[in-house]
Amino acid sequence: MVKIEKGRTIGFFVIATVVLTIIITLLISAMVGYESNKSSLVRNTLELNRINAEKLAITANELLTSATDMLALSAAHLSGGGKEETSQFSLQLIRESNNLFNSVFIADKDGVVLRSAPDNIGVAGKRLESRAALEALEAKAPMISDPYIGITGRHIILLSEPIFGKSGDYEGFIAGSIYLSEPNLFEIMLGTQMSNDIGSYVYVVSGKGELLYHPDKERIGENVTANAAVRHVLKGEKGDMDLVNTKGVSMLAGYAPVAESGWGIISQTPSSSVITASRQLVLKMFTYSLPILLLVLLAVIMLTRYFSRPLYNLASFAEQLSSEANPDVNVPEIHKWNYEANELRKTIEKAVASMRSQIDSLSVEAQKDTLTGLNNRRSMDKVLAGWQASGTPFNYMILDIDHFKSVNDTYGHAMGDEVLRFLGSKLSGLAGSNDVCFRYGGEEFVVLSPGADAEAAVRLGERMRKGIAREIGPTGRPITVSVGIAACSDPNDSLEEVKRRADEALYRSKQAGRNRVSLG
Ligand code: GH3
Ligand code: MG
Ligand code: MG
Repeated sequence: MVKIEKGRTIGFFVIATVVLTIIITLLISAMVGYESNKSSLVRNTLELNRINAEKLAITANELLTSATDMLALSAAHLSGGGKEETSQFSLQLIRESNNLFNSVFIADKDGVVLRSAPDNIGVAGKRLESRAALEALEAKAPMISDPYIGITGRHIILLSEPIFGKSGDYEGFIAGSIYLSEPNLFEIMLGTQMSNDIGSYVYVVSGKGELLYHPDKERIGENVTANAAVRHVLKGEKGDMDLVNTKGVSMLAGYAPVAESGWGIISQTPSSSVITASRQLVLKMFTYSLPILLLVLLAVIMLTRYFSRPLYNLASFAEQLSSEANPDVNVPEIHKWNYEANELRKTIEKAVASMRSQIDSLSVEAQKDTLTGLNNRRSMDKVLAGWQASGTPFNYMILDIDHFKSVNDTYGHAMGDEVLRFLGSKLSGLAGSNDVCFRYGGEEFVVLSPGADAEAAVRLGERMRKGIAREIGPTGRPITVSVGIAACSDPNDSLEEVKRRADEALYRSKQAGRNRVSLG
């Protein structure tokens, strides 16, 4: 059997196209959104970090300037050895007024600490041996030291101003120390920059590229000159860049030098934060647009169904027609606005109407004998099969025109046909309401009557025979028929046997001189 490919509906293709379009649009807009958002976020982040670094560098510079100014002022004041109380007071003032220094002290020209603030740190009277102190003693000039590790193991930087006597001789220095790992204004100022949630942070490097400040205290003192931004800032440049830091993390960094000290401030944000933010934005876009897209999809599905329904109905109607499941159904009604479907409907309607009338006439033709208008032999077989199946007893009567050949021979074939037609109508007239007449073939006719009453059958046969013989036929002479009858009372009798008995009876009628009825 040939497998019929039914195919998909128009609705399926429209919906599939729309779904595909939505998916592609979403993907493209997500990609474009992600990329443009990422690049603008990268630009903004770089710029923000650069501005932040510049701002912090200015602040740090001012802070250092004010601290060194203050140290210089005190140094001038202490020239020639100030009074003990005033010296102590000025140390305390310096330390407490700007919160930058963790301690402030005065050392003599040999590096022995004369006094300190706070005065309880136990350095008074001790000789300073740190690299920074020795450098200050040697330079006899204002200095900002590189970070060094103090006796207590802490990272420290030292800001110092020399003290000269009235006559210009070197008397020692006044210095403020900043403990890099401990709270001081420096840390408060930079540390607050850490407080955003995308992982941005700030760190400070010395002129030699060592970490002065880093949120990770463990790293203070570490040399980070391998970092590209550090290299730039140490050349006194400011700017921003995309870099991979010494820990292998990709960063968006802004950097600016602190003019006074040669330090560099780097403000940076992990690139991954920007990527995460971009992803979140795209996700948000998805979440916001999804309900709308689903609504659009729903609307499309409904509209598609609405628009394709007429065609779908016509198609299923056509399918029903071809399967003959229900050939009586009507062509479905459809909306008049749908031009294609409407035209299709009209055409199908016409085609179906013509097909139905053809089927009707064909089925009539198939059952009727065209010459006489009686039922033909095929329909007789059907009737007989039906009666046998339902167990209906019946009489089978065959009628054969006597000497019909001579009618043809004498009057011509057309007259023969005329005689056949005449006989057909005669039989129909003579038959009872339950009897059915057939043209069996040639000039032979069959009449079937339900009920296996042989006597009634013979009476009917006689009535027909006489009725025919009594009339003047188309030839101007009476036509006679010989009749053979067989009754079938047992539904198990074979039809061949019944027909054979009737033929035999007919033969006897012919033998006995024709125009008579015999029962088989
Ligand atoms: P019998 O009394 O023995 O039946 O003699 P008969 O001449 O009728 O004999 P037979 O049955 O041999 O002849 C039948 C003839 O009927 C032969 C054939 O030419 C003729 N015939 C059969 N069908 C038609 C038809 O449709 N039209 C016409 N005009 N003649 C037909
Ligand atoms: Mg015959
Ligand atoms: Mg005959």
